[in-house]
Amino acid sequence: MKLLSAAQLQEWDAYTIANTPIASIDLMERAAKACTQWILKQPFLKQPIYIFCGKGNNGGDGLAIARLLHEAGITPKVFIAEFGKPGTDNFQENLHRLHVLGLPIQYISSENLLPPINDDSIVIDALLGVGLNKPLSGLYALIAAHINTAKATVIAIDVPTGMYIDQHTESTNIVKANYTLTIQCPKLCFLIPENAAFFGQVQILDIGLHPAYLSTIDTNLQLTVLEDIQQCIHVRDAFSHKGQFGHALLIAGSEEKMGAAIMATGAALRSGTGLVTAQVPASGATALNICYPEAMLLMRSNTIDNINHYTAIGIGPGLGVNTDSQQILFNVISHYKQPMVIDADALSILAENADWLRLLPKGSILTPHPKEFDRVFGKCVNDFERLHKALALTLQYPLTIVLKGHYTLVAQQGKGFFNTTGNAGLAKGGSGDVLTGIITALLAQKYEPCIAARLGVYLHGTAADLALETEAEESLVATQVIAYLGKAWNYVKP
Ligand code: ATP
Ligand code: MG
Repeated sequence: MKLLSAAQLQEWDAYTIANTPIASIDLMERAAKACTQWILKQPFLKQPIYIFCGKGNNGGDGLAIARLLHEAGITPKVFIAEFGKPGTDNFQENLHRLHVLGLPIQYISSENLLPPINDDSIVIDALLGVGLNKPLSGLYALIAAHINTAKATVIAIDVPTGMYIDQHTESTNIVKANYTLTIQCPKLCFLIPENAAFFGQVQILDIGLHPAYLSTIDTNLQLTVLEDIQQCIHVRDAFSHKGQFGHALLIAGSEEKMGAAIMATGAALRSGTGLVTAQVPASGATALNICYPEAMLLMRSNTIDNINHYTAIGIGPGLGVNTDSQQILFNVISHYKQPMVIDADALSILAENADWLRLLPKGSILTPHPKEFDRVFGKCVNDFERLHKALALTLQYPLTIVLKGHYTLVAQQGKGFFNTTGNAGLAKGGSGDVLTGIITALLAQKYEPCIAARLGVYLHGTAADLALETEAEESLVATQVIAYLGKAWNYVKP
């Protein structure tokens, strides 16, 4: 699913108006209807409802919602930020429709006209929409700050006022919404951690914009949806044998961190590859054998015989960052010729040896969480900077970058795919090790690196989501995510 810029969202409206028998004002009416229906269904519905409107199209939505609520028997208190200039055509038309009904409207033209807001009430933020690209000032800044001092339940229409939809918002004077009702499609701003304090729960309301528009545009960012995943899964031939599914090698674990190697190995075994070998310290061999007798073992050494006979290598979980680990990583990346997965301690070693980036086999996948990303590529001051840096790096190097988080980003060749599966139960030690095992196993089966990464993070998150059948986010552990990989595979297979 493509993620559109503010300009493309406007174009989509215009395209719909040009290609379907619908006028602009009626499209606004559809959006307002969808919002009103959602609001009326909420168990927290209460009065008074304060609606704050700007004089643009977001304000027009707000006025239409006011009228529709009134028709449903709830009369809201309507406030308009007054600058002395007329609003957009659709705003003016909806203002007229409200006047006809005789609904009282108050104009806020200065600070002393800000209304007191009851604690136990609802505020609808229809001040400014998706077109914003400069910090709030004047009246808008005052009203946003005023809403934020109230204890009411805040519902933002399309986007919380003050937030930019596709770039970093430098100001923190943004309406803090409990719910955001966003029209037609998800927006980039709702995927970015630094914005999470402002948008609350996001609800996407379909208003039937013309789907054909989407095939006319190019976006470098997308959400990965189930159909994308289903299309790329390799069908397992009934007559197949293990030699067709590759041989994954995991170089992981150390005396203190054997669990990481065990979890990565278990996840690889449950992700379709024919054979899995784990290279671990001798002290951990028994533990691994007991947990996963299906895996083969190599004892830890700095060199690996016949390294290119493995169809993929995953290196890093629990490996440690001592000189031996450094030597292993150097030897592997100097001799291995196929895409591999670099995670955890291997990323920390890479951070200390930046010139090794160029040595990584073409197509390799890096799986940093934000801190690891900054360690390797330098400190980023905000999440948007990190996102754009990750995209840019994949144009500079023939690599795939998996930037992990609530919405994990898979970046390759300047394009980014956000994952939407998974939950906060994964915010625990061991989750990342499981992911490394999964992606390594997919690479071993000759999935293309970008596909291996997207499928891997999707499966990983799906397993965690399905595990919530029996677990709470609090109780979920990484070994349970491995146990649910079977259900996750069955869920994603076409
Ligand atoms: P370490 O810090 O030792 O590397 P780890 O390997 O378990 O620990 P990460 O490498 O950060 O941790 O990996 C955590 C995994 O869990 C990632 O795949 C990440 O996307 C996922 N995850 C973490 N928190 C969330 C969340 N709130 N929602 C969804 N997924 C999450
Ligand atoms: Mg990790």
